Amino acid sequence: MNKFWTKPLLRLSRFGLQLLGYSVWLVLAGCVPTAAPSSPPPPVPTATAAALAAVSPTAVATTAITLPLITKSATPTATATATATATASPTSTHTPTVLPPSRVLIIVVDGLRPDAISAELTPHIWELAQTGAYSWAAQTISPSITLPSHTSMLSGVDFYQHGVWWNDDAPERPPITTPTLFNYATAAGLRSLAVYGKTKIMLLAQPEVTTQSIYALGDVGVSMRFAQLLAEEEPFDLMFTHLPEVDGTGHALGWMSEAYLAAVAQADTAVGTILKALADKGLRETTTIVLTADHGGINLGHGDPTLAVNRTIPWILSGPAAVAGGVMLTEPIETYDTAATALTILRLPLPEGLDGQPVHQALQK
Ligand SMILES: [Zn+2]
Repeated sequence: MNKFWTKPLLRLSRFGLQLLGYSVWLVLAGCVPTAAPSSPPPPVPTATAAALAAVSPTAVATTAITLPLITKSATPTATATATATATASPTSTHTPTVLPPSRVLIIVVDGLRPDAISAELTPHIWELAQTGAYSWAAQTISPSITLPSHTSMLSGVDFYQHGVWWNDDAPERPPITTPTLFNYATAAGLRSLAVYGKTKIMLLAQPEVTTQSIYALGDVGVSMRFAQLLAEEEPFDLMFTHLPEVDGTGHALGWMSEAYLAAVAQADTAVGTILKALADKGLRETTTIVLTADHGGINLGHGDPTLAVNRTIPWILSGPAAVAGGVMLTEPIETYDTAATALTILRLPLPEGLDGQPVHQALQK
């Protein structure tokens, strides 16, 4: 099929699955938003579970599908679902060897709305966009909350595959078995670093599959810890850093409030610290940066995925593997495309069954 039409058609067919995700959210809406739920998780409704099973024969409604860890020598399996095969086929012939050598750094500003980004308020983020490629209309998944969204961002699969609806790391939660970029990088012998300001992110950057997986306090703590580790350690191939305070300020005082915008400016300063640490280590020229968010927000929250303002996120690609010059991206971008793009830049194969695809428009040809 013509590449131009493949992506929209696949995404259209996926729309039905997103509706299923939304129906799950409707049931769970009372317990997922900001605070860690203290009551036991409600069961996924039987009707929803049956519907999920019907559309994807291998889907397990309440837990994640375990994707195989694909190494460079792995071959596609014959048991993949039709959807998985169709999703993977346009990209599986991609030849990443044409790309320049590159590391990847993913910077997440938790809860950052694209319309809070400007040359005046966020000069570092603005410069990344203006020297690379950017979209102010990328979309996160439903449910539009931190842990489910990060799971999609870092695994490359939509909610219907990973099933992570909870938003905390309470001990009674089932383990997240969906592999993330850290699993893939480590399996390929790459070094990875994750520094984050919410402890639940460790569920996706588990210490046993990440070279360094560190929680730090606040945007300043995260950026300084990142800089310290970068200075002290051997260079990393895959880096991830998560700045928590924009989201916290939004919940406390309102999205786009004066305090929220001040927090955005502070997050931008932290981004500046992170970029300087890369430069000090001599890695700035070999590192391609993805800067994005896990969700937007309005008033005091972001839990309603039917509101575009909650699902719309910034997505910036800047560095040696990116097109240069501030290209505004016109193709639809989903948060799970981040994982596929990162794998492509790292020259790792795209695992069978990913929903995400590399953002080709943003990548050097
Ligand atoms: Zn939040």
